Amino acid sequence: MKRQLTLHKNHWHEMLEHVLRQAPLEACGLLAGKNDRVEKILLVRNQAQSPVRFVMDPYEQLKAFDWIDSNRLDLLGIFHSHPAGPETASATDIAEAAYEVIHLIWSRNQDRWQARGFWIEKGHVTDVALQIIE
Ligand SMILES: [Zn+2]
Repeated sequence: MKRQLTLHKNHWHEMLEHVLRQAPLEACGLLAGKNDRVEKILLVRNQAQSPVRFVMDPYEQLKAFDWIDSNRLDLLGIFHSHPAGPETASATDIAEAAYEVIHLIWSRNQDRWQARGFWIEKGHVTDVALQIIE
């Protein structure tokens, strides 16, 4: 289980821009890096094109996994957005968590977007601290 993840401010903005572009549909993507440190954000199309769920486009997901492997990085996390809430993992997120990685969820409170990190394992959700560095 991981309890913290470090991201560069640019990674944060890259995800946020993608989330804003896709809203009111859910947006998704992958976080790759080493240990607890993110080095690359990979945007993936939400095949479901839905405001309440996401399904990663299988071809884009495969391409992203290949990129991560060939750059000798690890898959550290999956991010997606909840344009209509909640700010935590939904029942679907918990049921469909297929990888042992950090789940970073973007949600909107009025016009303010925020992201929270979670570790989801065997139906249990634990908070992951997100550290943003300059
Ligand atoms: Zn979700």
